[in-house]
Amino acid sequence: YLRLESLAKRFGETQVFSQIDALIAKGEFVTLLGPSGCGKSTLLRAIAGLNSIDEGRIVVDGEEITALPPQQRGVGMVFQHYALFPNMRVTDNVAFGLAMQKVPQEERRRRVDEVLRLVELREHADKFPHQLSGGQCQRVALARALVVEPRILLMDEPLSALDARIRRHLRQQLRDIQKTLGLTTLFVTHDQEEALLMSDRIFLMHDGRILQQGDAEALYTRPRSHQAAGFMGHYN
Ligand code: ATP
Ligand code: MG
Repeated sequence: YLRLESLAKRFGETQVFSQIDALIAKGEFVTLLGPSGCGKSTLLRAIAGLNSIDEGRIVVDGEEITALPPQQRGVGMVFQHYALFPNMRVTDNVAFGLAMQKVPQEERRRRVDEVLRLVELREHADKFPHQLSGGQCQRVALARALVVEPRILLMDEPLSALDARIRRHLRQQLRDIQKTLGLTTLFVTHDQEEALLMSDRIFLMHDGRILQQGDAEALYTRPRSHQAAGFMGHYN
């Protein structure tokens, strides 16, 4: 599980988020939904250890990870713009984290092969990122996050840069993989349709606070605030 306890973060004078309390159960797929600038990426990066926080604790499966360096947190992260190494082949992009961990070459090969099969990219293993489509690049990024067998998967608008048809296909594929692995997942989007379709539960974020947590139906039929109702599309 992933537990966030009273997290708060400032950039200078700006309070980016505060009083973030949440529990994501093992194997649960939770979407963090909220408008641009509300603090979604900063929160995700804080969980991954790419941003510091000013207050609070982050706990994964009973272990506090708040002060650990990113590569020791057991957290995998996927970004909107893939962030692949352009001069490395797909296999080497995916193997990167394992090489950092000094995993022996034989095991590295086996695990990369396994995860490329999972994201259906084995036949593209020797290509470079510029030879792939956006959807394929994002699957490489997913494979790279999964290969280190994270306890928590964080995804920051991974589908936003893709065209509508690929996006729908990848939504399903992502969800299938997540269920197969039983991965505890926090997914960020500002697309309410995507959130409604994909999530076990949704956290509605506004101005650095989580306004409401619930399943799609509860949020849609029983928004507890004006902002929540607006964000679930009631005033469209
Ligand atoms: P979007 O949907 O546009 O990606 P977001 O919800 O991910 O938005 P964040 O990127 O987390 O929002 O930004 C939240 C706030 O923190 C914004 O006001 C932003 O300007 C500010 N911010 C983010 N990163 C920094 C930084 N490195 N230094 C100063 N302020 C920052
Ligand atoms: Mg963002």
